[in-house]
Amino acid sequence: MPPSPIERNAVPLLLTPGPLTTSETTKRAMLRDWGSRDGRFVEMNARIRHRLVELAGGLGSHVTVPLQGSGTFAVEAMLGTMLPRDGKILLCINGAYGHRMARIVEMLGRDFVEYETAEDTPIDAAEVGRRLDGDPAVSHVAIVHCETTSGVLNPVEAVAAEVARRGRRLLIDAMSAFGALPLDVRRVACDAVAASSNKCLEGVPGMGFVIAREAALAECEGNAHALSLDLHDQWRFMERAGQWRFTPPTHVIAAFDQALREHEEEGGVEGRGGRYRENCRVLVDGMRAMGFETLLPDAVQAPIIVTFHMPADPRFDFQAFYDRLRDRGFVIYPGKLTVADSFRIGCIGRLTPADMGDALAAIAATLADMGVANCAPVPVARRATA
Ligand SMILES: *Cc1c(COP(=O)(O)O)cnc(C)c1O
Repeated sequence: MPPSPIERNAVPLLLTPGPLTTSETTKRAMLRDWGSRDGRFVEMNARIRHRLVELAGGLGSHVTVPLQGSGTFAVEAMLGTMLPRDGKILLCINGAYGHRMARIVEMLGRDFVEYETAEDTPIDAAEVGRRLDGDPAVSHVAIVHCETTSGVLNPVEAVAAEVARRGRRLLIDAMSAFGALPLDVRRVACDAVAASSNKCLEGVPGMGFVIAREAALAECEGNAHALSLDLHDQWRFMERAGQWRFTPPTHVIAAFDQALREHEEEGGVEGRGGRYRENCRVLVDGMRAMGFETLLPDAVQAPIIVTFHMPADPRFDFQAFYDRLRDRGFVIYPGKLTVADSFRIGCIGRLTPADMGDALAAIAATLADMGVANCAPVPVARRATA
């Protein structure tokens, strides 16, 4: 029997960048308790760690260090462990997640400089090179692959080439891209990539991971500022004992193991990325047909999350729009931009192009209810800029 509208509304689809919609089978994988020393649980951890390195093209050179917590815990652990206490890091910033890295290194008391572009503008690899030439003290560079603030795609491969050419080290926050957009460490030279269970890999939230170049990680003993965020210690312990240092998020790990199986069945990065690109295309075409405008031109839009300008029509009220869409079974995301009044709709998670079509129908019906006929934003000349 198909779910009644009420049941459907009770379990909305999340068109958000995390937590996001997961499959029924991934959720079901959590319906048993695991002892952390159980041989099959230990095997599961080894399988997950191996698969993640394989996805990054790092077998033989890189290792996966998983960590309890949300994605930010993994980013903080990556920065605190991989950046020596006397190191200096150039932070490439074009959104909230870049700014978050700056807050982290500031709290760590490590030396840093910022290279910032506008939220709708990708990081310029040549400019990264110039900044490195101008500041020989910079030992490391950090960049966000897809800046989820706007959905902009940063050119990590070109940046990695500039960094490697000068003998510096690169750290990547690939949280919202890993598993859907290609990132192969054989082409993108880096010391570490941080991501989490709950974005494009479609696991449930609760663990992050860092894929680190083994030789670089081996040099990082004593760098970390916090025991629980010490990736070197976590790695050494796992290699030795096959277990996590502290209570592992067992149910999250079991769900992640299932989610990775489903990722592989879908055709890995290519298959997953293909579905998200199609989701994104259906969404953007449908929204444009209603008069909405995207913040980003298509050339720099990652198929992860799309930022739309708020319609200028005074009958459009975002909170009412959000609530009514939620009642129709779709959760969207408020904007996080400083450059424009906007909202966001995610393309990731267990969503299909048909789901995106249903979301568009719900959006059209909601706009009709609100009496909004024209979704065009405020003309560019009159937009407030920060
Ligand atoms: C989601 C995300 C994070 C981590 O956020 P958490 O809320 O801690 O999971 C970090 N960086 C980027 C680019 C993200 O999209």
